[in-house]
Amino acid sequence: MTVSLYGMTLAELETWLVAKGEPKYRALQIYTWLYQKRITSVQQMTNLPKALRDRLAYETTMETMEEVTRQVAKDGTIKFLFALHDGTTIETVIMRHDYGNSVCVSTQVGCKMGCEFCASTLGGLIRNLAVSEIVEQLVVCQHLLDKTNERVSSVVLMGSGEPLDNYDASLKFVDIVTESEGLRIGQRHITVSTVGLVPAIYRLADELRGITLAVSLHAGDDDTRGRMMPVNKAYDIATLLEACHYYYDKTGRRLTFEYALIRDHNDHLEDAQKLATLLSTLPCHVNIIPVNYVPERNLTRTSKNQIQAFVQHLQHLGINATVRREMGGDIAAACGQLRAEHSRESV
Ligand code: SAH
Repeated sequence: MTVSLYGMTLAELETWLVAKGEPKYRALQIYTWLYQKRITSVQQMTNLPKALRDRLAYETTMETMEEVTRQVAKDGTIKFLFALHDGTTIETVIMRHDYGNSVCVSTQVGCKMGCEFCASTLGGLIRNLAVSEIVEQLVVCQHLLDKTNERVSSVVLMGSGEPLDNYDASLKFVDIVTESEGLRIGQRHITVSTVGLVPAIYRLADELRGITLAVSLHAGDDDTRGRMMPVNKAYDIATLLEACHYYYDKTGRRLTFEYALIRDHNDHLEDAQKLATLLSTLPCHVNIIPVNYVPERNLTRTSKNQIQAFVQHLQHLGINATVRREMGGDIAAACGQLRAEHSRESV
């Protein structure tokens, strides 16, 4: 059976090599080739003996995904649709900000969380991604950016899937890309976004990684949130916020709350009021997202004026809130849209 070189931490690669009778120090050499020199074939690892290169070529894999489509938006946003070895597809996005390039990776093929406004969950969960498939998304983006001497400066686990429902792979991904001998992405520049899987939030807090936790809240009361997000039936808002306080107390990291505004669902000023009350004692930032259109979901976006009124009301109530700048508006940049489009075309 082959293993993916992109699926191992440096320590795991050392163990793997030692078990094969190879010297431990080869792991660091391989890591440097993979993540700093960023080669695309083991035969390019010229400081390894030929026998080891051949062994790696035979027993390991590197890139396994195939690019199906790539869309480039006017603002520079690049969206990839990748086909995995089993023919399933995932999306990855590069976003250009003033402060650098941020990459949005997927953690699952599809999603089982069932949020009413989200395209990723339309066909349910197909499978978890392997760590290597999450790392590969980042590597492919970095390879593209290398052509213009740019680097990935931040990563968000906000593509399709629920990262905390694929917990081990998501965490190992963080460990691999933050490795000081590897891509060296700072923990502070990684954001994990969750629907609010409470036990996993406690677990993540206890791991004491310095990553940012973003929680998809989307409503200020349980009735509204329960209609939008089935997960709220398992973990209501009070239970979720208790876990969020714990995360802050443990890590000292300010949380982000995502709030997609949907006309007449959750966009009235009294919703802002409820939200402000809920978050009044938690150091956090609220990211307001004008809902993205999904043809299968008949949801209307809140008007520009109402978005402004909603945000101003939150700010007036002492909440740190901003409207997420829309990226890639002229391409299908919202979660799951490209994949959904692709599967509509293939039926
Ligand atoms: N499962 C995780 C991460 C993936 S979704 C989570 O739920 O947080 C990333 C973010 O996009 C979430 O906040 C999600 O609620 C939001 N989102 C999904 N569909 C959307 C849509 N149609 N418009 C705006 N935001 C959407």
